[in-house]
Amino acid sequence: MLSEKILLIEDQKSMALLLQARLSNCCPKSEIVLAHTLQEAKKQLETDVDIRVCLTDLTLPDSSNYEVVDLLKEYKVTTVVFTGSYSEAVRERVFDAHVADYVIKDGQNSIDYAVSSVHALLKNPEKHIWVVSDNIRFIQRSQGLLRIQRYQLKVFEDYSDAIRALETGAPDLMIVERLSDERKTSVYDFVREIRMKFSDHDLPLLAIEQQGKLNQSIKLMKYGVGDLLSDTYSPEELYLRVKKNLEQSQAYKEIKRISEIDSLTEIYNRRAFFEKAEILFKQYKQEGKNFFLIMADIDHFKQVNDKYGHLVGDQSIIFAASYLRSVFSNALVARFGGEEFIVFGECTSKEKILELCESFRQEIETQSYASVEVEFTISQGVTCKGDTLDKAIAFADKALYEAKGSGRNMVVSKS
Ligand code: GH3
Ligand code: MG
Ligand code: MG
Repeated sequence: MLSEKILLIEDQKSMALLLQARLSNCCPKSEIVLAHTLQEAKKQLETDVDIRVCLTDLTLPDSSNYEVVDLLKEYKVTTVVFTGSYSEAVRERVFDAHVADYVIKDGQNSIDYAVSSVHALLKNPEKHIWVVSDNIRFIQRSQGLLRIQRYQLKVFEDYSDAIRALETGAPDLMIVERLSDERKTSVYDFVREIRMKFSDHDLPLLAIEQQGKLNQSIKLMKYGVGDLLSDTYSPEELYLRVKKNLEQSQAYKEIKRISEIDSLTEIYNRRAFFEKAEILFKQYKQEGKNFFLIMADIDHFKQVNDKYGHLVGDQSIIFAASYLRSVFSNALVARFGGEEFIVFGECTSKEKILELCESFRQEIETQSYASVEVEFTISQGVTCKGDTLDKAIAFADKALYEAKGSGRNMVVSKS
């Protein structure tokens, strides 16, 4: 299904075709609607309610006074202006008309930037920004500006409300202005409390820097604020800071994902398993909870590869991993190595865990052919004992070894 449409307004035919091609490349889910004049643009806007974002030239044959930005504002279309004319007055004029971005045409780089800006604006409704402030002027201005950029916004007028809301999930960015009433909590305590739960990358903080209060700004940075914005900020400054902070945290999350997730199966890799399981192991011990650990290994997998080829082997590993994840959806499931998997989680009933292992075993045995056109089986070793994670792994491994030695395609428990 196509998502929101992009209106492209450009009178120069060759530039219009170039931009159209670049936009379709960059935003393949959006239809590009082309207009060469103000009148054509008006007609499109009157008839097409799906147009939400626009890339527009500023001077058109029937619009010499930048009327196009007023038209787009009237239709509440988020607009990127792409123009050869630049002056401070024009810049002010277009930002007054609520444009989201203003790009000067000066070669390939500016085309890349304009297209990526449109792409970002299409994606912004997925991004959540929280504004913490009790200053009504600041709230209204930042809200108005961030809405032009199509971000999802929430405002908190009290630190404790924001902290409470964080219990159910963090936004992509938080903008913090020092509250006028700090009798209960200071902004430093607020930032520190956030940093105890969320790293700089998980939840970037952008604080408003009060003029002439350098010490306060330095202290905020030391407590965990990642970036500052002057309280006399211009719309573009706010847009750029917000965009930069969101992009950095997004890039970090992507790197983290790549480092933790096995690319073939999309489940955790061995390294991520140890990192997460060690934490869970300690937590269960502290809370007096029981755990279970399963080692599972596909039987005679070398033969699967030899007989059907490596690609079919890969498909079999993917099938086993995705089914294992769905059976043990509340536990930590990882690819331990080649065709070997590991599961770690809380054990409330040993019988229930063994039942789940058995259903996983049966599913692989009976469904593998239907899924990947190869019949294969899997052996599992299970344990609920061990003073350390390594010892638990050793017990499960021993149980798996026994399963292999006793004919494979079975679940052996050691507890
Ligand atoms: P057993 O029943 O004793 O576990 O026998 P096995 O053949 O499954 O065990 P073995 O350890 O001898 O062989 C595992 C094979 O898995 C060897 C290796 O080539 C293959 N393998 C490891 N990783 C991958 C992978 O990512 N893709 C594919 N297709 N094969 C893999
Ligand atoms: Mg094997
Ligand atoms: Mg193996």
